[in-house]
Amino acid sequence: MPSGYDAIVVGARCAGSSTAMLLARAGHRVLLLDRASFPSDTMSTHLVHPPGVAALERWGLLDQLVASGCPPIGSYRIDFGPVAFAASPRPAGTVATAYAPRRTVLDKLLVDAAVAAGAELREGCTVEEVLVEDGAVAGVRVRSGGTTAVSERAAVVLGADGLHSTVARAVQARRYHEQPALEASYYTYWSGLETTGFEGYIRPERSWGAFPTHEGLTVVIVGWPRREFEANRGDVEGNYLRMFEMAPEFAERVRGATRASRFVGTGDLPNFYRVPFGPGWALVGDAGYHKDPITAQGISDAFRDAELLASALHRVLGGEQPYERALAGYQRARDEASLPMFELTCQLASMAPSPPELQALLGALPGNPEAAAGFVSVIAGTLPAPEFFAPDNVQRIMAATRVEG
Ligand SMILES: Cc1cc2nc3c(=O)[nH]c(=O)nc-3n(C[C@H](O)[C@H](O)[C@H](O)COP(=O)(O)OP(=O)(O)OC[C@H]3O[C@@H](n4cnc5c(N)ncnc54)[C@H](O)[C@@H]3O)c2cc1C
Repeated sequence: MPSGYDAIVVGARCAGSSTAMLLARAGHRVLLLDRASFPSDTMSTHLVHPPGVAALERWGLLDQLVASGCPPIGSYRIDFGPVAFAASPRPAGTVATAYAPRRTVLDKLLVDAAVAAGAELREGCTVEEVLVEDGAVAGVRVRSGGTTAVSERAAVVLGADGLHSTVARAVQARRYHEQPALEASYYTYWSGLETTGFEGYIRPERSWGAFPTHEGLTVVIVGWPRREFEANRGDVEGNYLRMFEMAPEFAERVRGATRASRFVGTGDLPNFYRVPFGPGWALVGDAGYHKDPITAQGISDAFRDAELLASALHRVLGGEQPYERALAGYQRARDEASLPMFELTCQLASMAPSPPELQALLGALPGNPEAAAGFVSVIAGTLPAPEFFAPDNVQRIMAATRVEG
C-alpha cells in the first residue's frame, strides 16, 4: 500500500466533507482538498429532504443547522394544474422535516466537521493530475495558487469533485444508465414571498419549486426543456416570470415579492451513473452519479453515499474485507437505493405529459390524504417509488376513490 494518507478526498462539499468526516471519525488519515475556500456558494439550490436531514442528525450536526436560523419545512404541496395536494412526508427515522440551508452555511458546517474529526483540509488548491503506479491510483498532483504542484499519496483517492470530476476523467470511469440533459434550470431568491413549505408545480413544458431558506428569503427554481436553453438565454427573467401565469395565485405572490439576487442557472444537467470505483480510486456524490435537480435529491444522495463509501473503505482499511468486494457492495447499494428515483426524476424532467394511468392515480390523491402523503414521501425520499407505484397499492388507492366517488 502506498505511504502517505489513508484517503485523499478531492472536493470538500456535500459528498467530500461528509466522507472525509466519517473516515476521520473512524480513525483514518484523511487529506481533504478543494479549489474553493469555505464558506462559499456554489451553483445549486439546497432543499435537503428528510433522509438528508436524518443523516445530519446521525452525524450530530443537525443542532448547528437549526441554530443557523434555517426554517424547517414540514409540508410538501404538489400542484399539477388540474390536481393539487399537500401532505407531510413520512419520517426518515424520527425526522419528518426538510430544510433548505444556503450552501454557504451547509458546506461550511460539513467542512468544519471534517476538520474537527481530524481531516487535514487544504483550500484553494486544484488537483491537476491523478498519479498511477502499477495500474492503480496512488495519489494526486495538487497545486495551490501560483506555487509548484506537489504530489500527495494515499491508499485510495476519492473523487468528490462534482459533475466534471477530474478524478473520474483521469481514470476514465465508464458511464451507464445515461440519458441526455432534459432541462435547463434557473433560480433566484425572493424576499416577501410566503410559502406553505415546499411547493412544487408541474405544467406542460415548465416546472418550478419554491421553498424557504435563511434570512426570510424564498428560493424559486424553475425548469424548461433543454432544447429551449439557447433561445431563452437572452431573456431568462421574462421566461422565468411568464411561467408563473400558469398558476395565477403563485404569480400574484411573486408580484408582491422583491427579487433579492441575480438569476443563476445552467443547461448542463446530464443524467448518468459512473462506475464508482477501480484500483485505488472511488467516486462519491455528483462525481459518481448525476441527475436533474427537479426532484432535489443530490445532497441527500451525497450524504447516503458518503456513509456507504466510508463504511466500505473502513472495512478495507481495517483489513476486514477485500477492496474489490467492499467497493462492489458500495456500488450495488448506491444503485439499488437510487435507481427508481433516478428514473422518476428523468420522467419528471422530460416534462412529457403523464401517461393516462398516472393521471388517473394523481387525480385520486387530493381526496385521499394517506395516498397523497405516500406520493409526497416518494418525492421526499422516505417511501421507495416501487412501493408506492406497486400495482396492489395503486389498486387500493383507485378502489378507495371509487368507493368515495
Ligand atoms: C441548479 C441546481 C439546483 C440544485 N438543487 C438542489 C436541491 O435543491 N437539493 C439537492 O439535494 N440538490 C440540488 N442540486 C444538486 C446538488 O447541487 C449536487 O447534487 C451536490 O452539490 C453534489 O455535491 P458534491 O459534493 O458531490 O459536488 P459539488 O457540490 O459539485 O462539489 C464539488 C467540489 O469539488 C471541487 N473540485 C472540483 N474539481 C476539483 C479539482 N480538480 N481540484 C480541487 N477541487 C475540485 C469544487 O470546487 C467543489 O467544491 C442542484 C443542482 C443544480 C445544478
